Amino acid sequence: MYDIIIVGAGTAGLTAAIYARRASKTVLVLEEASYGGQIINTPDIENYPAAAHISGFEFATKLYEQAKELGAEIVFEKVNGIRVNGTVKEVTTDKNTYETKAVILATGSQNRKLELENEKELVGKGVSYCATCDGFFYRKKIVAVNGGGNTALEDALYLSDLAEKVYLIHRRDAFRGESSTVEKLKEKENVEFVFNSRITKLNASEKLESIEVTDNEGKIRTIEVNGLFIAIGRIPQNEIFAELVDLDDAGYIIASENCHTRTEGIYVAGDNRSKELRQLVTATADGAVAATEAVKYLSTI
Ligand code: NAP
Repeated sequence: MYDIIIVGAGTAGLTAAIYARRASKTVLVLEEASYGGQIINTPDIENYPAAAHISGFEFATKLYEQAKELGAEIVFEKVNGIRVNGTVKEVTTDKNTYETKAVILATGSQNRKLELENEKELVGKGVSYCATCDGFFYRKKIVAVNGGGNTALEDALYLSDLAEKVYLIHRRDAFRGESSTVEKLKEKENVEFVFNSRITKLNASEKLESIEVTDNEGKIRTIEVNGLFIAIGRIPQNEIFAELVDLDDAGYIIASENCHTRTEGIYVAGDNRSKELRQLVTATADGAVAATEAVKYLSTI
């Protein structure tokens, strides 16, 4: 029986593990894929207080090592469900069932897809959702980035130093991401903004050859590219917890300011929580708050 099981080893989950271990609680972190979560794809973090210029990978690795050093158990298994039996919660994975007194849901979110016909088949053959992972394969080649948020802007900036040409395609005429990054992109001679446009077709034989882009007036343009980086946001993965928590229209878990869900002893932290600002700093804050609340709860049962 663990004191706290944390679902997800991203920034929020690992921060929660650090706080819970520092309160001397037994902690199991369950992670489906690899540690680090979304931040692992960010080449250069500039907005985390007192740590200007650190790569997402380095940040995540330090966090992971810190949690391990403090004694958190981190196991790579996919959580399939949680059953609440009074104060005991049963967490079932693809391999085991674990018992715990409190749970922190820190499952983050996954890449939103364009939902184009052959998008899935072309992943690894020209289509990617991670510029820092795959950008290297497009040195001196032509690439497009789709999206208007911070991820798309940062991907375009990163790729502009590698690729010969970067098209940044966005469905509106203004970016959602930070203006300081937009200014940096404007200075890049090899970056072209394609506004008011959506990608409507991926043309490929064995691998991606070009993309069809349709503007808001219906005019179609074909752009030859070797690679397409899709950065159109993320969607939460909370469906399996829907019986225990309330979800908003977009599928995020509704929680109080201190990360309580509607089920006693179950907390939520990070990008899968319904909130306004999803940043590294709010993910770490959520992790700390959720763990502290879980520790308080443990003292009452
Ligand atoms: P995001 O901020 O939600 O932006 C998604 C972008 O994709 C928006 O510009 C949106 O267009 C567009 N979009 C959504 N669905 C689309 C579709 N079906 N077709 C075409 N375009 C579509 O997502 P994100 O950039 O991944 O960022 C997620 C969160 O992480 C944000 O809060 C962001 O600030 C944060 N983040 C922070 C950093 C950092 O601080 N260094 C780095 C990366 C991400 P509209 O603008 O028209 O809605």
